[in-house]
Amino acid sequence: SGARVRRAQNKRLPQYLERGVDVKFSDVAGLGKIRLELEEIVKFFTHGEMYRRRGVRIPGGILLCGPPGVGKTLLAKAVAGEAGVNFFSISASQFVEIYVGVGASRVRALYQEAKENAPSVVFIDELDAVGRERGLIKGSGGQERDATLNQLLVCLDGFEGRGNVITIASTNRPDILDPALVRPGRFDRKIFIPKPGLIGRMEILQVHARKKPMAEDVDYMAVASMTDGMVGAELANIVEVAAINMIRDGRTEITTDDLLQAAQIEERGMLDRKERSPETWKQVAINEAAMAVVAVNFPDLRNIEFAISLPDLKSVMIWQLVRNSLKTLELVSELWFTVMVTIAPRAGRELGYVRMKMDHIKFTEGMLSRQSLLDHITVQLAPRAADELWFGEGQLSTIWSETADNARSAARMFVLGGLSEKHHGLSNFWVADRINEIDSEALQIVNICYERAKEILQQNRKLMDAVVDELVEKKSLTKQEFFGLVELHGSLQPMPPSI
Ligand code: ADP
Repeated sequence: SGARVRRAQNKRLPQYLERGVDVKFSDVAGLGKIRLELEEIVKFFTHGEMYRRRGVRIPGGILLCGPPGVGKTLLAKAVAGEAGVNFFSISASQFVEIYVGVGASRVRALYQEAKENAPSVVFIDELDAVGRERGLIKGSGGQERDATLNQLLVCLDGFEGRGNVITIASTNRPDILDPALVRPGRFDRKIFIPKPGLIGRMEILQVHARKKPMAEDVDYMAVASMTDGMVGAELANIVEVAAINMIRDGRTEITTDDLLQAAQIEERGMLDRKERSPETWKQVAINEAAMAVVAVNFPDLRNIEFAISLPDLKSVMIWQLVRNSLKTLELVSELWFTVMVTIAPRAGRELGYVRMKMDHIKFTEGMLSRQSLLDHITVQLAPRAADELWFGEGQLSTIWSETADNARSAARMFVLGGLSEKHHGLSNFWVADRINEIDSEALQIVNICYERAKEILQQNRKLMDAVVDELVEKKSLTKQEFFGLVELHGSLQPMPPSI
């Protein structure tokens, strides 16, 4: 069986090594400050002697922690690529085999090779597969795992301080790792890689777009804001699917629309179709439909860039302009509303959502107009108002509590920002006896907006019912589908300023 084991590992060996890795840090986007930490690891290779002379201990292992698809593997490769060293990789689940002893000898063989080809990076994917706390798993599988883990510990210790073989491992569960693994000299450096934020997503899309024939006016920000919660792997996929879209249509450039469509496909793929009772579906649908229906009534919830980058929305835009005469022009581009309504649950997310984004830049620069802030508050109160209208005061749900909170804090901001008539121009808001006054004024604003939300919903009962029915059936609506229903059933009227 010794020979068999050796044959088994020898067969695998070529898969470990990757020479001349050409991944660079510039291929990994949206990292922010994490990049500095990784640059330091590169320096352990390139300036190892300097570190040693100064008595700096070079870590044996670095643990990249984070959810799947955020780019941990890519980063480990980039470290090897930037340092110009060899890259050995293996998934820890490959260590764990049914034959006792195979895992341990694979680990030994891997490190043997890495040493012979030093300097090198050893990358162990899914470390938790082998690094779970020992003794937790019963039976022979557990024994095998323990043997493998012990071997890994021996190998890590063997390289301590040398700095010419550095192990990088990835895991989504640093909390369940065997304590021995994270002791000093082993995986004593943890780097957390979170899911990318808005700007991060935009940068990742741009990195992947570099290798593709993109139209010049692609609006990456629009795509980034439609992909909340997605990770690099999914964003990379969106660019690929968009390219397929383009080819299928016989075009030569990828447009914003290709990307948005691909994003929707990706989104649907991610949907976690948990079982829910029909009543729950309906309630969530009412909640989300209410926000969308109220929002679509506001002229300033769409911005001109959005309309330009999405040609199919132009007609809606023009329709809006006509409807509200030219008043819209001063308000456009203050808030915008990307139209996608869904009630399908997703892992770790609220029950459903209407994708509606503040224009972040304007918002932080304090350039939101008074009216758009009020509209925003009204939209946030729509779910609560819908609950009252559709289910009655007697059986209010709590689905809307989050949006109601948003409304409350926005109302406070409104008063504090001096946007209300009463406090306009006041400079000393923070004086203690003003606080109550501010709160009561905020409450007043919430109440006025609440009534307004209710009024809009009552005027649009037909539209609401249609959107709810569609949502319950399809679980999500695209912008075209939603606006189709608006055209059919909406009774939109220009809203007079409420306060
Ligand atoms: P993980 O190891 O965290 O599961 P990967 O590194 O395997 O994730 O990511 C899979 C693919 O997704 C990468 O090869 C790359 O194409 C893309 N990707 C993930 N994160 C990023 C990122 N931050 N920047 C650019 N591309 C990324």
